[in-house]
Amino acid sequence: MKLESLCLHAGYSPENGQPRVLPIAQSTTFKYASTVEVAKLFDLTEAGFFYTRLGNPTVDAVEQKIAALEGGVGALCTSSGQAANMLAVLNLARSGDHLVSAASIYGGTFNLFAVTLKRLGIEVTFVDQTASDEELEKAFRSNTRAVFGETLSNPTMNVLDIGRFARLAHRRGLPLIVDNTFATPVLCRPFDFGADIVVHSTTKYMDGHALQVGGVIVDSGNFDWASGAFPEFTEPDPSYHGLVYSEAFGRAAYIVKARVQLMRDMGCCQSPQGAFYINQGLETLPLRMERHCRNAEAAAEYLAGHAKVESVKYPRLPGNPDKALADFYLPKGCSGVVSFSLKGGREAGARFIDCLKMISLQVHVADIRTCVLHPASSTHRQLSDEQLREAGITPGMVRLSVGLENPDDILADLAQALEQA
Ligand code: PLP
Repeated sequence: MKLESLCLHAGYSPENGQPRVLPIAQSTTFKYASTVEVAKLFDLTEAGFFYTRLGNPTVDAVEQKIAALEGGVGALCTSSGQAANMLAVLNLARSGDHLVSAASIYGGTFNLFAVTLKRLGIEVTFVDQTASDEELEKAFRSNTRAVFGETLSNPTMNVLDIGRFARLAHRRGLPLIVDNTFATPVLCRPFDFGADIVVHSTTKYMDGHALQVGGVIVDSGNFDWASGAFPEFTEPDPSYHGLVYSEAFGRAAYIVKARVQLMRDMGCCQSPQGAFYINQGLETLPLRMERHCRNAEAAAEYLAGHAKVESVKYPRLPGNPDKALADFYLPKGCSGVVSFSLKGGREAGARFIDCLKMISLQVHVADIRTCVLHPASSTHRQLSDEQLREAGITPGMVRLSVGLENPDDILADLAQALEQA
């Protein structure tokens, strides 16, 4: 099936007389006839549901759908995008290890990497993703375990050269993790360009209706975890009677370990009701992404031509430094997110936001309703001025998330607010 059909049909195929719509298995637990059967589930010698923290039919259907959309061997839904990024890293790195990450990433991920992972003994070196290969090579150490970046960075809208980053990582036997939240598999499938793990905040376009916080990790199945550089995949796990993940689960070793070890112990799971909402969103994802892109292109062009606007960051705009990368990795469009700065700086940005009528101020992005945010005073508030600069964020930057309203109404609201800014 093609992507639009997978969005509707992957993960759940009702049989004769079963519900047409994915049912919500609102149950923490599952009934079994004998202790022998339950023991097999706990030993991982048989697959099945036994406790919703580790697996649930509704959540499983959504995991299968997202894995199919990204072209992976398996997926794990999490309670949030933050949890997805945390588990994606902790599944391959431990205290004493090191990661290389693009600097222009979501502020919450930056904090997770720079503060919390550091506290856990995992160090992260942030790099300018436009630097030359020679410069980037300098960031790697003997204990580096992975490379991380965002397909379209939040909020700076830089395009990651996924192929180049994958080559840099693979040259050292390391996996590339790509946060594909803004692009979604509709606009870009990072596995097609060499990424090994994909993460999403499903809170964004996958849900799309601002209903449910969630995240997902998807495993391409292509990375060789048995190389010896990742002992937790090749050494026996005492918590499963000495099971060796790379031997027992082959191509699915990474995603199985994330579930049976980390989700078991850390417990940041998605709920059945939450998964149902995400599934609702996924069904219309291709239609919505197309309209988000067209409306955002109209808004970006309008803003770029406005006398009060200093700069606009939307990779599809002619003259954008990432235009060639966008044309290659994101030929169908660059999502609904447009970042721009007003000539009047921080104050003009705030005035502009306060004067909007239809467009709302929300700590969110990727909603069907057009919304705005001021990153320096909200999502990236914890970053120092230097970290903000490194992440490419100016104090006056406005992040506009273009929704599905009629583009005339979006442009009219932008126009009247700009008039007063
Ligand atoms: N990754 C990206 C690119 C994001 O934009 C966000 C949130 O905005 C996250 C991860 C974190 O996701 P969540 O808010 O679902 O925890």
